[in-house]
Amino acid sequence: MSQLRFKVVDEAFNRKADPVEIPSESPERYYGKQVFNRQKMFEYLPADTYNALVSAIDNKEPLPREVADTVAEGMKKWAIDNGARHYTHWFQPLTETTAEKHDAFIEHDGKGGVVEKFNGKLLVQQEPDASSFPNGGIRNTFEARGYSAWDISSPAFILDGTLCIPTIFISYTGESLDYKTPLLRALNSVDRAATKVAQYFDPSVKHVKSYLGWEQEYFLVDEALYSARPDLMLTGRTLMGHESAKNQQLEDHYFGSIPSRVQAFMLDLEIECHKLGIPAKTRHNEVAPNQFELAPIFEETNLANDHNLLLMSLIAEVARRHHFRVLLHEKPFAGINGSGKHNNWSLGTDKGVLLFAPGKTQRDNLQFITFVVNVMAAVHKHNGLLKASIASATNAHRLGANEAPPAIISIFTGKQLSDILDYIEKSTNDELIALGGKEGISVGVSQIPEIMLDATDRNRTSPFAFTGNRFEFRAVGSSANCASAMIALNAVVADQLMKFSAKVDERIAKGETLRHALLEEIRAMIIENKAIHFDGNGYSDEWKAEAERRGLDCETSVPKIFDAYLREESIDMFKRTGVFTKIELEARNEVKWEMFTKKVQIEARVLGDLAVNHILPVATRYQSILLDNVFKIKSLFPNGKGEAIASQDMATIENMADHMRVIKDEVNAMIEARKEANRIENERDKAIAYHDNVIPRMDVIRYHIDKLELMIDNEMWPLPKYRELLFIR
Ligand code: ADP
Ligand code: MG
Repeated sequence: MSQLRFKVVDEAFNRKADPVEIPSESPERYYGKQVFNRQKMFEYLPADTYNALVSAIDNKEPLPREVADTVAEGMKKWAIDNGARHYTHWFQPLTETTAEKHDAFIEHDGKGGVVEKFNGKLLVQQEPDASSFPNGGIRNTFEARGYSAWDISSPAFILDGTLCIPTIFISYTGESLDYKTPLLRALNSVDRAATKVAQYFDPSVKHVKSYLGWEQEYFLVDEALYSARPDLMLTGRTLMGHESAKNQQLEDHYFGSIPSRVQAFMLDLEIECHKLGIPAKTRHNEVAPNQFELAPIFEETNLANDHNLLLMSLIAEVARRHHFRVLLHEKPFAGINGSGKHNNWSLGTDKGVLLFAPGKTQRDNLQFITFVVNVMAAVHKHNGLLKASIASATNAHRLGANEAPPAIISIFTGKQLSDILDYIEKSTNDELIALGGKEGISVGVSQIPEIMLDATDRNRTSPFAFTGNRFEFRAVGSSANCASAMIALNAVVADQLMKFSAKVDERIAKGETLRHALLEEIRAMIIENKAIHFDGNGYSDEWKAEAERRGLDCETSVPKIFDAYLREESIDMFKRTGVFTKIELEARNEVKWEMFTKKVQIEARVLGDLAVNHILPVATRYQSILLDNVFKIKSLFPNGKGEAIASQDMATIENMADHMRVIKDEVNAMIEARKEANRIENERDKAIAYHDNVIPRMDVIRYHIDKLELMIDNEMWPLPKYRELLFIR
């Protein structure tokens, strides 16, 4: 057994960096090479088709069928010119990954040969047999078919010789079965609601866009080591493994120099990203050993999210090329930091104004305060829902732990913004008018630009932080589809802004000035939503108690966190914003509970198997070596002397026996708990049973296995240890 471990460790430690094929052209030339972007559209489409397509994209209008046929023709020609022979509708089912079904560009020609074929119908809409995608019962209750339809706002691209067409995925009766559909609805909703408010400040604003800049964290493990860890292969995380004597305590990995093997991988990945039009920009080591991050330049949310999903498949593929496996799991290793995917989020007008950025004039800054305070109100009202939007079986390992995010959603504003809010709250209207002048009141709104740019005031423990010109939603998990968080966030903010403008309009109708109406509403919101504002240490126990007092959602059980989607205020909010119907919400929660159960179920099975078939046999063997030794000592040294000499070994034998007994008992109890849970029909109750009765047993089993790891001869231990998995040379 251990033979395998030493072999793979050897293989991993001796591996050299793989060569990278660096294109001879400059990045400017190969950037977007595999994307059917506007430049390619212009080249491959007749002028009137190009204009019709671009206008449909810009004005969010459906594409006329005749235009689609010509677009399909041009797109096919471009794809074939660039080596593609297949096409697929690329969509985002509720599995957190993407799905594709490839078809070749051919049809029978009736003469025994084939013709290349791809028309508007195939481009615009398809009926993938989707009965095996999670649907929470929608497709049983309604209609068996699912449709995928092209999202023209996200350009098609070529991946591995296949033309991929980003699509939404809906049921025959129009319910969304994916992430993209509700995301697009939420983005439309926030566009409408925010545009109305932005027009108070600039009547010429026509649209407000939502922007997303994600930061993808991940771990790398050598493929040889990975293949010797069934838990990593089957669950994406280590289910056992004692902490390495050295891990992240020296803080020498964060921003440290990147190992050459990893650098080669990163370079390769960036080149691939750039060819696919993903604006990868930043790369660095993260806090934990073997943990890294990739961040692109932010883009419009829908496109940014497609790019993140594309990156998640790309990164796995490129890692393999470099004899690595990438771990996108939120917590692959106990005892060291897990991985998140910070969602940097902002809103901006079509005039290029970022709405969460302080400006130079009094009016700009009133606009800035208006939007920031509305976000605070929305996040406060729906803090439980936002937590639900990032909750999953895998992210649960981060939720309770000492790393952003704590299991309570609060907003960090930093001192300067906090001072400004206090000032507005206490001031009277007249003072505020003076505030814009040159008097230089200490927190004068006119002075915000200079002060705000000072970013020293950063709080890493906050799940939702204001960072100068955007909010950073840090609670999102590294393996998640960002859409889940972005749907909830954009929807709650849209809803809040609608409410806000209705109230302001009412005041104006009563004869108040716009400025007075805005400030009165802002002041009321500041007072009402204080509970969400917290700049202290989000990990402290005092905060948990304090948050409870403030009435924030403190639930930590993931299956119960999901309940937030079905609360009346959530159902109403999603209905008002047109993002989800009640039926969709119910169906999606079924899927969430089912996924939670399945993930835990798989982990429990793998852990039981490893415990019984890998760990206990080795423990028995080592125990028997010790027993043999004790027996020999005692026969060689009679009369109590042997007893004394062998006492250490005897203690170890007993100690091991204790751990082994608990492991055996707990594995059996865990199997029973699963059987019992599996008999429960209701998905929510089943998930709760898995959470309450299976997970705690897994923790106990792991604890005892990790103890055995410290006792058993290193030569005999069957699985690569943390110290071997975590340090790439
Ligand atoms: P840090 O780790 O310091 O938070 P990074 O540079 O790693 O910062 O990532 C910041 C991310 O935020 C990048 O993707 C960046 O493009 C994005 N970003 C910057 N400004 C905005 C904005 N106004 N809206 C959305 N994302 C933004
Ligand atoms: Mg960040």
